[in-house]
Amino acid sequence: MKANRQDFLNFICQTSPSPIGLEIERAAGSYLYTTDGKRYLDFISGIGVANVGHSHPKVVAALCTQAKQYLHVMVYGEYRLKPQIALAKKLVSLLPSPLNQVYFTNSGTEANEGALKLAKKYSGRKHLIAFDGSFHGDTQGACSVTGREIYRKPFEPLLPNVSFLPFNKIEALDAIDDSVAAVITEAIQGEGGIRVPDDDFLPALRARCNAVGALLIFDEVQTGFGRTGRHFALEHWGVVPDLITFAKSMGGGMPLGAFVGRRELMASLSTDPPLSHVTTFGGHPVSCAAALAALEILLDEGLAAQAEKKGQQIRERLRHLAQRHKGILEIRGKGLMIGMELDSAKRTQALVEDVLKDGLILGWTLHSDRVIRIMPPLNLSEEELEEGLHCIEKAWA
Ligand code: PLP
Repeated sequence: MKANRQDFLNFICQTSPSPIGLEIERAAGSYLYTTDGKRYLDFISGIGVANVGHSHPKVVAALCTQAKQYLHVMVYGEYRLKPQIALAKKLVSLLPSPLNQVYFTNSGTEANEGALKLAKKYSGRKHLIAFDGSFHGDTQGACSVTGREIYRKPFEPLLPNVSFLPFNKIEALDAIDDSVAAVITEAIQGEGGIRVPDDDFLPALRARCNAVGALLIFDEVQTGFGRTGRHFALEHWGVVPDLITFAKSMGGGMPLGAFVGRRELMASLSTDPPLSHVTTFGGHPVSCAAALAALEILLDEGLAAQAEKKGQQIRERLRHLAQRHKGILEIRGKGLMIGMELDSAKRTQALVEDVLKDGLILGWTLHSDRVIRIMPPLNLSEEELEEGLHCIEKAWA
């Protein structure tokens, strides 16, 4: 039976006044198939989720196998669950030392909540620092460190003792002092408009945090798992945070997030009092089985290297397009996390609507409605890449 559009509007809480409302029949690889017989090339990966493509057969097989064994059996951290342990071990093997212990969550927001709570508990300090233009999620804690006032204002009062600094301004880092429990930042701002910091910014941030004893949290919810042309974006700068958070593509399409830190730091969560941060469903065995399969695909298919190469190809083509059209101001990004900045929000919206008619899904970033986000699955084929680029070029013809 088809899902009626009016029922969708009546019974599903809307998050925007004009939802796309495509009715999905199935999804596979880089495409979504709708009930009206159309096919859409997904150039945003369900917003950074489908790094290995939609419904990858190995992910689906892994989650079915796990579902037949057991689903949920006990709140997080009490029983030994093989899918969690295998995934944590594999993830840690890919992360730089000393990021060696994992706490699984259901989402990116919860991963950031956990990391922020842990930083306050471990350090005994109260002050948190975040950056203008950041996005860290929508619970009250994560929202408190999200760097755009219009998204905080309606929900105030939020967390006290949060300060915002300009992103990518080394001079501003002096404001981080010994009252600071933690600084949270994305390595590359996603919702802020695909903003890549200068090469010296994150090393300078690390040095400042070391100097004042503040913990550094990298939010790699959007940048992780091959998206930027490395397994994790931190590899571009060789900077190791105290805590790193993940979600989105981590679960291969299933809900899963995590925060990871050194054992001595993570140990704060099990004492004074014990059970001070728990979750019922975080690290669901089925999600972990799917995530392990997705991670193996990432490694076996060399998806980070593929993202690096295809990202260069796309940026080059779009820069040629920008030379011919004044409305395109800049093409930026790393790997397959690409931003195309246009000269007006009107033009951005028109482009997104135009290409949708041609079967291509694009979108803009939350804090920057002049920046088109291009984040296709990392394993899209040459033909699919060509199809997407052709569609964008056609919209400018
Ligand atoms: N952090 C970043 C950088 C994100 O881009 C997002 C979501 O877009 C989040 C956190 C929140 O993640 P979730 O929607 O899984 O709670």
